[in-house]
Amino acid sequence: MLRRAFLASAPLAAQLQPFRFEPAEPFPGSPILFSAAEGPLAGTWMNRPLLFERDEGLKRWLALAAVSLDAEPGPHDLLLGNGQKHAVRVAAHAYRTGRLTVPPKFVSPPKAVLKRIAEEREIKKAAFAERTRRVWAGPFAPPLDTRQTAAFGTWRTYNGKTQSIHHGLDFRAAAGTPIHASNHGRMLISQDMYYEGGFVVLDHGEGLFTLYMHLSAFGVKHGDLVKKGEEIAESGGSGRVTGPHLHFGVQWQGLYMDPATLLALRFG
Ligand SMILES: [Zn+2]
Repeated sequence: MLRRAFLASAPLAAQLQPFRFEPAEPFPGSPILFSAAEGPLAGTWMNRPLLFERDEGLKRWLALAAVSLDAEPGPHDLLLGNGQKHAVRVAAHAYRTGRLTVPPKFVSPPKAVLKRIAEEREIKKAAFAERTRRVWAGPFAPPLDTRQTAAFGTWRTYNGKTQSIHHGLDFRAAAGTPIHASNHGRMLISQDMYYEGGFVVLDHGEGLFTLYMHLSAFGVKHGDLVKKGEEIAESGGSGRVTGPHLHFGVQWQGLYMDPATLLALRFG
């Protein structure tokens, strides 16, 4: 059973497993870390390209991806370039709903800012279309060490009107709290945006991005390479918020994933 692949206890047995993945029960909106004994290897998952690259510590070939929030529970095929096919069972998952109240200008933006919003949408679109070489390595680290206050995937109603899905994980953070890079990456966006407020996007390669919102100060510039754990910004309460906090998002090739599940992956 593929789903039980990570239960093997002996490290040697784990090393010899031809193929496995983590978490044991992926669900709509979860990350999925594929691990193969042999490589390099190309693949296709959720109609998107995957590249298995060597992890020298693990002596295995890894590819990190996401399960679409829209994915139906049940088997989904991972197609590999060597002709193999693995059926991965996606488990059902229930997300909560919530209500929030924000300043009215964030629910019905005034005409004067529509151009700005449209321009920022294009900047994000271009950024998330970047496909660079992988620079992430090993587990992802929390951007700060505080309590998580709002989970990923909640259906939110703003001011009783606009509905949207919460595409990230919120951390408690007083304004001015140092924010750290979750993994090695390249600074792709660092600017103020209407909804996101102070906004940083790191490109980790192969279509994987981490997003940091509502910031009050930037520590690095566009194009800078940053190391995992390096301070990249300070938190704040800018953009569409009810108060200061850090919103941390993770996107893979257009799909948002649950950051809490990513942070819990063992990469073993
Ligand atoms: Zn948030």
